[in-house]
Amino acid sequence: MILKRIAIIGSTGSIGVQALDVVRRNPDKLKVVALAAGSNAKLLASQAAEFDAGYAAVFDEKAYQELAARCDCWTGVGLEAVTFLASLEEVDLVLIAVSGAAGIYPTYKAVAAGKTVALANKESLVAAGDVIMPLARSTGSMILPVDSEHSAIFQCLQGEKKSVFRLWLTASGGPFRETDITELDFVTPEQALRHPKWNMGKKITIDSATLMNKGLEVIEAHHLFAVSYDQIGVVIHPQSIVHSLVEFVDGSLLGHLGVPDMRMPIQYAFSYPDRWESACDRLNLLQLGKLDFYPPDHKKFPALGLAVSAGQQGGTMPAVMNAANEIAVESFLEGKLGFKEITVMVEKIMGQHRVIDSPSLSEIMAADSWAREACRRNIRK
Ligand code: NDP
Ligand code: MG
Repeated sequence: MILKRIAIIGSTGSIGVQALDVVRRNPDKLKVVALAAGSNAKLLASQAAEFDAGYAAVFDEKAYQELAARCDCWTGVGLEAVTFLASLEEVDLVLIAVSGAAGIYPTYKAVAAGKTVALANKESLVAAGDVIMPLARSTGSMILPVDSEHSAIFQCLQGEKKSVFRLWLTASGGPFRETDITELDFVTPEQALRHPKWNMGKKITIDSATLMNKGLEVIEAHHLFAVSYDQIGVVIHPQSIVHSLVEFVDGSLLGHLGVPDMRMPIQYAFSYPDRWESACDRLNLLQLGKLDFYPPDHKKFPALGLAVSAGQQGGTMPAVMNAANEIAVESFLEGKLGFKEITVMVEKIMGQHRVIDSPSLSEIMAADSWAREACRRNIRK
């Protein structure tokens, strides 16, 4: 067994911590070389010590002193240091577990360096998939999905990539699946953060409550699997047992089932093309009972259709939609915006944007910055 040498960008978050748990259980197969985070120097330093990492970096300038004081290994700060760790010579596989558009540059650098990239950060493909996917083809970088739905589809496509009729993304429906539409005006951040099935970072948890997350995942699937938007369906499946499915031209459906535990798709990205034993609970089919499937309520959750329409418009529009959503979610969490206003705000900013077709990475980043500023301005009003 060859030891895979890995870097984790975003090691202190929900995905990062679960990824380190996978490493902890597979010391003969995985070796942590580098870890990076935003500002949580204390946790980052203790992770670096536990896993004997050679490199640790924080994005936030203010966190650096503490990191340097707590670490014996190489330390660095800022975007340059973080992207340096994403493209290190002595690393085979890079997990991008940063939340939001902050993941774009680290993903880009890892792909440019030809690394195998375990990609949890969906926003980098949403905003810059048209740049990152062709780059991956040219550098030979393999992108392995970590998002549970995309890992499920990727697994269903092993050995059979042709003859796909449609991809089906499942969605739990979030905490407000059964909430009346009239009550959505009054839901609090605390209620929205209570996801029924998954324990995740704040941003993705709010995205799951608005169904924006599923819209981002449609765009992610479009890029990862090179399928058109009308070949991607979304189905609500509250039990979160079927993680997604592939429908083939003959009408056969292959689905991926398992308990909802992110360590499973994280580990698959680490073990690919092999499968390892895992510490996750096993799915007990004999106790499972029924599985429900039904269509999403677009009236109640307009963010899903809005995101897909941004994907269909293409160019800089998905980056603008994504950036406006990040600011709107942040404002909702700060109590400055109502729950339904998140989507209203995203739609408004999209309406103000003049799309640039076939943009470069710098044009995408400029569109992202413009959308953030436009969204902040609108919220202040
Ligand atoms: P969290 O908010 O829990 O963690 C984000 C991580 O990124 C933290 O380690 C944070 O550091 C770090 N970070 C933030 N900004 C930067 C930066 N500029 N440079 C380097 N590191 C940075 O997010 P999640 O783990 O929930 O999500 C991560 C990604 O995975 C998202 O794109 C999400 O959509 C996706 N995903 C997550 C799932 C989940 O179950 N959580 C499921 C499927 C996909 P610090 O702690 O210092 O702030
Ligand atoms: Mg997902």
